[in-house]
Amino acid sequence: MIKVTHVAPGSIADELGLQPGTELLSVNGRELDDFLDWQFLTADEEFTLHIRQPDGQEIEYEIERPLTEPLGVAVEPARIRRCANRCDFCFVDGLPEGLRDVLYIRDDDYRLSFQYGNFATLTNLKLADEARIIEYRLSPLYVSVHATDPVIRRWLLRNPTAPDILMRAMARP
Ligand code: SF4
Repeated sequence: MIKVTHVAPGSIADELGLQPGTELLSVNGRELDDFLDWQFLTADEEFTLHIRQPDGQEIEYEIERPLTEPLGVAVEPARIRRCANRCDFCFVDGLPEGLRDVLYIRDDDYRLSFQYGNFATLTNLKLADEARIIEYRLSPLYVSVHATDPVIRRWLLRNPTAPDILMRAMARP
């Protein structure tokens, strides 16, 4: 489920009655987890959208629109995936005290890599993430490799469970 944060006046979403706080539950029967699902599953001229309004009413829409016409919905940002590594040279550890709290977040999120160009190590991927990267063809992703030798890489990342990055790269299309 993803919540709507903004609806553009006069847009398709506005005409449907979506509003800030509307919960986007599924598209074509597939549950929505974050903005990536929303972007990719609605990138079609026709789809079924299941929502829940703030008053609890659930509605299913059959949407038809030309791809040139945006839906006019902004959705809540994803909860940032945190880094599972403890590099000795972590740039976050090198920051001075007293900065904004968000600057101390050790993010390691392939979704932000696709969306904004952040670097990610891919050490915290679940099988579902790998499947989604392949299905959505998320490219480019900006990967912090550190080293291709798995032993050296785990040592640099201070993460004994870091996967072999070359095997991971070969698994991608
Ligand atoms: S991968 Fe990046 S954020 Fe994570 S510990 Fe290493 S330098 Fe810090």
